[in-house]
Amino acid sequence: MEYRGNYAVRFILIGLCLAAIAVLAVMLFRTPSKRPGEGSAAAPETTAAPPATVPETAESVTTPEETTVQKPESTAPVTEPPRQYEYATDVSRYLEFIDTDDRSYLILANRSHALGSKYVPEGLTKLNGYGNVTLRHTAAMAFEAMYKEMKALGMADVVVSSSYRDYNYQNKLYNRYIKEELARHPGYTWEQAAAIVDTYSARPGTSDHQTGLTVDFYPVSSRFEKTKTFRFMTENGYKFGFILRFPEGKTDITGYMYESWHWRFVGRKAATEMYERGITLEEYLGMTE
Ligand SMILES: [Zn+2]
Repeated sequence: MEYRGNYAVRFILIGLCLAAIAVLAVMLFRTPSKRPGEGSAAAPETTAAPPATVPETAESVTTPEETTVQKPESTAPVTEPPRQYEYATDVSRYLEFIDTDDRSYLILANRSHALGSKYVPEGLTKLNGYGNVTLRHTAAMAFEAMYKEMKALGMADVVVSSSYRDYNYQNKLYNRYIKEELARHPGYTWEQAAAIVDTYSARPGTSDHQTGLTVDFYPVSSRFEKTKTFRFMTENGYKFGFILRFPEGKTDITGYMYESWHWRFVGRKAATEMYERGITLEEYLGMTE
């Protein structure tokens, strides 16, 4: 009897447990747990924004005169080319040049990448009224836009010392520098003199000026850093597609001492990237050797 009684109690307890589990299961299914931010049934936490008020504009005011004016059929805004930067002058007609994506404007000319004696750039254009500037047409147009901008900002000291230089000119220039160094250092060999000249002048066929994409501003010396033109170029040159070709601290990459006056056209996209990343044309092209 004692054992039977135990069995009965156990049976009842198990039955109660099963019933309790069943009740809990039903409760869970009927009231699914809601966590804030989870589940598609969650109510939005923010309240609906009030309807935006329509501002009163001059257009909404109807005057007797205006009722007779026929409005244009299309209200679509005029599509303008993207202008990422603010300019003081209207550069719209120059943007096709400033924004060129022609990779020929990325041409590299340095000691290890010579253009050679035969290289003459395409489309050389002489700009009148800007101090005898000869550049490839696209670079000339970008320069013209930049020059007008500087003038509009009241800068009177914008003078170009040098732009396109052909092979023969660079050849004469280089040999003149050699003679000067030989005179300065009696007893030096041609190679010793050339080693000095190489730090400030390109050998013929390797000059950045032979690309027809380069301008030297006046004065061609460290005094240029004190001019408004230099400050403008440093802050805004890239907006017109120009870069400082031989920056300070990059001599081991460019092969040239810092030249604050020497600016090179590459197009705005490349110039902006070089400006923002603080890199040279060699680094941009991945041609640092
Ligand atoms: Zn130069």
